[in-house]
Amino acid sequence: METSNGKKPVVVLEDFWRTYRSGEVEVHAVRGVNLRVEEGEMVAIMGASGSGKSTLMNTLGCLDRPSRGRYLLDGVDVGRLSKDALSDVRNRRLGFVFQGFNLLSRTSAIENVELPMLYSPRCPPRAELRRCAEEALEQVGLKGRTQHHPSQLSGGQQQRVAIARALVNKPSLLLADEPTGNLDTRTSIEIMAIFQALNRKGMTIVMVTHELDIARYCLRQVVMRDGVVVADQPVADRLDADEELEKVLDEQAAIQLVAER
Ligand code: ADP
Ligand code: MG
Repeated sequence: METSNGKKPVVVLEDFWRTYRSGEVEVHAVRGVNLRVEEGEMVAIMGASGSGKSTLMNTLGCLDRPSRGRYLLDGVDVGRLSKDALSDVRNRRLGFVFQGFNLLSRTSAIENVELPMLYSPRCPPRAELRRCAEEALEQVGLKGRTQHHPSQLSGGQQQRVAIARALVNKPSLLLADEPTGNLDTRTSIEIMAIFQALNRKGMTIVMVTHELDIARYCLRQVVMRDGVVVADQPVADRLDADEELEKVLDEQAAIQLVAER
């Protein structure tokens, strides 16, 4: 399936609804969302708490299915797949980055990155496994830290390990729920620099963020309210993370100079 401009849609949501039932009460967490994300896009999903962002992400991540409507991932109707087929799709096509990193604490960085491949039915031989994990860590700038355990790494480095883990299976879609939620300004920009570099190489990225500043590193912003999309537009004043990082470093150096006087 191709669009008129020749690009392939990675994500297509058609009249997507998700209704939670507890006893007699029905909560329509998402109410009729249409969304299309093409290859190479970088999308920020925004909106107040309770607006349905996580519910939407859970479906995009094949952790959940629509109550009504359709979700096509790479053209495959996910709602019709069996549980096994769904977890296979999850493993092969999707990478996840969470706010809390979710790393195994007693396991080295490289072993954390190897994990998704170990669980894959197509797990490569040991040497190949190691090579792929090393390559993923190199992509996020952690080449020299492969043997470190999470407790020996900063928050930003831990998030990079989590990004490497998300990349190791070479997914067609990278999903991130508040990936900079626990990080300071400078570290957040460093993470966005990695996302932008991945995106420049063609990775499709959909991320949830509360922060307007962070959304400005994306190419497109989708705003949700009460389970519907209320705005969907390109980012007009896109920030370049490498440039912003330089500014922050200059500022920090200036503050340092003043402090030393
Ligand atoms: P957000 O991520 O934007 O904060 P959510 O998708 O988590 O929003 O939640 C959207 C709405 O759905 C909220 O009203 C929330 O209370 C409700 N909701 C979310 N998950 C469940 C659930 N498992 N059972 C019942 N209601 C839920
Ligand atoms: Mg949420």
